[in-house]
Amino acid sequence: MSTSLGGVDVVVIGGGHAGCEAAAASARTGARTVLLTQKKDTIGELSCNPSIGGIGKGHLVREVDALDGLMGRVIDEAGIHFRMLNQRKGPAVRGPRAQADRDIYRSTMQAFLQQQPNLEIMEGSAEDLLLDGDAVRGVVCADGAEIAARAVVITTGTFLRGKCYIGDRWYWAGRHLRDSAETEPPSVGLAETLERFAFPLARLKTGTPPRIDGNTIDWGVLDTQPSEVPPSPFSYMNAVRGVALADRLIACGKAYTNAETHRIVMESAHLLPAPSRDGVGPRYCPSLYKKCERFPDRTQHLSWLEPEGLNTNVVYPNGLSGPFPEEVQLRILRSMRGLEAVEIVRPGYDVEYDYVQPTSLHHTLETKRIGGLFLAGQICGTTGYEEAAAQGIVAGANAGLKVQARPSMVIGRDEAYIGVLIDDLVTRGTDEPYRMFTSRAEYRLSLRQDNADLRLTEKGRQAGIVGAERYEVMQERRGDVEESVARLMGTVRTIDAWGTMGIHFETAKSSEGRKKSAAEVIACPDVTLQQVEAALNMASLNAASDTLQAARHAPGDSGVATAMAEAAAEGIAAAGAARTPAWAAETVEAQCKYANYVTRQVKEMETWRRNQDLRIPADIQYTHEELPPVSAEELEKAVRPTTFAAAGQISGLTPNSLVYLYHYVTKRG
Ligand code: FAD
Repeated sequence: MSTSLGGVDVVVIGGGHAGCEAAAASARTGARTVLLTQKKDTIGELSCNPSIGGIGKGHLVREVDALDGLMGRVIDEAGIHFRMLNQRKGPAVRGPRAQADRDIYRSTMQAFLQQQPNLEIMEGSAEDLLLDGDAVRGVVCADGAEIAARAVVITTGTFLRGKCYIGDRWYWAGRHLRDSAETEPPSVGLAETLERFAFPLARLKTGTPPRIDGNTIDWGVLDTQPSEVPPSPFSYMNAVRGVALADRLIACGKAYTNAETHRIVMESAHLLPAPSRDGVGPRYCPSLYKKCERFPDRTQHLSWLEPEGLNTNVVYPNGLSGPFPEEVQLRILRSMRGLEAVEIVRPGYDVEYDYVQPTSLHHTLETKRIGGLFLAGQICGTTGYEEAAAQGIVAGANAGLKVQARPSMVIGRDEAYIGVLIDDLVTRGTDEPYRMFTSRAEYRLSLRQDNADLRLTEKGRQAGIVGAERYEVMQERRGDVEESVARLMGTVRTIDAWGTMGIHFETAKSSEGRKKSAAEVIACPDVTLQQVEAALNMASLNAASDTLQAARHAPGDSGVATAMAEAAAEGIAAAGAARTPAWAAETVEAQCKYANYVTRQVKEMETWRRNQDLRIPADIQYTHEELPPVSAEELEKAVRPTTFAAAGQISGLTPNSLVYLYHYVTKRG
């Protein structure tokens, strides 16, 4: 590496999920960008579970995609098992999820980055920062080389003073290298740099389960779950263009723990390293020990057995993390049906690492202390690939925009889950690994996974990170959505007429004989867009057929027959045209279903916001009996706030619970 690289605009440190999106976004703004990472070969590595998306997380992937990010397109290339979670629930809480072939995921991500103009990839380890007063001026590498830059994005994941644990063994490492005993070195120099500049650092931990040999699993006794066919793409580009994803889908197995498993876990708890018993880990991805401790009455826990790829025997047993000594991990696994003869490929381990309290960041993810220094990903206290990617795209875009003196890109809570994530982090901070849930978003009826492009692509275009092709695809989709909604609002029939067409819905007695638009009908429970459009089209075809019959019997020389035949032909053509295209259907249906609720939700949030100074009585009982919709985690955290403004600052207290508390307090008087 040269000792000084003058003229680089932005250096992104780390080639994980935050770093890849940050580097690509910065380069898309036109900034000359370097991605500096310890090993080129591990760029895009899925360190833990081989899957992308899920509830809340899937929304983030769609939003990253809407900003022309990489994650959605990469998982579409690498996916081997796809599902839309919560399919039976409302459109707002559905979440796309896919399992990836690890190798294809990594190589696809690397290929996308290699093709990115303005981006150079360098192998090396960042040790320190160069500063000019309180502005960043570059990066010092472990070999002493310096890279001059006007902005730096740090995305070092679990590596910042990373320390791994298995049983009573511990060793300095950022993580293990794939399915091997080999480790990747921790990032110590940068941790010391951040400490030197008085950034508030604290420790978090996370864990990964053992990897097992699929050839030693008795698949025959296990239930399996196939992928959805055909899989729905994550990327709007693929969905709108109708790109078929690779036809190589695999099934996952279902294994269960049992009383014997739980006995081994609890009896061996003393063999766990102390941070794994008492450290702050991901609440919603708990170790098996934490699950057994927290739910002693549960007789079993499900573990999805997820193959890690098409050309490997390695299987990821989801939900079985816990860094017990290897022989205990083996006993735990072998106590489960179907795994009696299983062999471990690599034991599970925990990693403990430094993170920076994210209240030290602006909404652009630039640090408040050092101008031009941005942070994104696990280093900001989050957990998960999707949360990392979401921050990466914002930090990278803003770093690129800053060096070009262009306006920054800030995403609001009412615009995207990305906005919710960043606002939660920078205004409230976090004391445990933060992951995304739909309940964290107060505007979740409008922030759906189906409409991320309509919410964000325009904004990304203005920031210069969305290409022309993506923008055109979004405009095409927006046109289709608007046209369909307008048509459905303008198609009005009496309630009796809807009944004659076979569309039945509950109505108040007083509204009998009244008219309803197709959009209003779709808003009724159990009525779908597909049913309504099919019924309308059938009615149009029937009418056209009647007109045609009548035309046959009309006097031939009066011109009436011709006019009637023309009318019938028009009716048939109109029936065909009055159907929403597949790529717009989900959004159109959701817009119809939620139209009234969205208005109510906005009003409710406005009322709540206006009353921030309202005092919360000290005698409120923060119990499940008094506040049933408020989760156990929130009740634990709500330590008697005195006003709603103070309650709003508590990390982990969701806006929905705050609104519930508001109604509870105002009703009580
Ligand atoms: P990472 O993906 O960790 O990438 C960091 C990158 O920075 C790497 O490429 C690394 O080489 C590079 N790097 C580090 N230091 C330097 C340096 N000084 N110079 C140059 N490059 C550097 N997520 C969950 O959602 N649930 C879980 O249960 C879970 N468990 C996990 C268990 C383990 C053991 C590990 C390792 C991770 C786990 N994850 C889990 C976390 C998941 O891997 C991260 O959330 C995600 O990868 C974070 O992305 P990132 O981009 O912030 O960092």
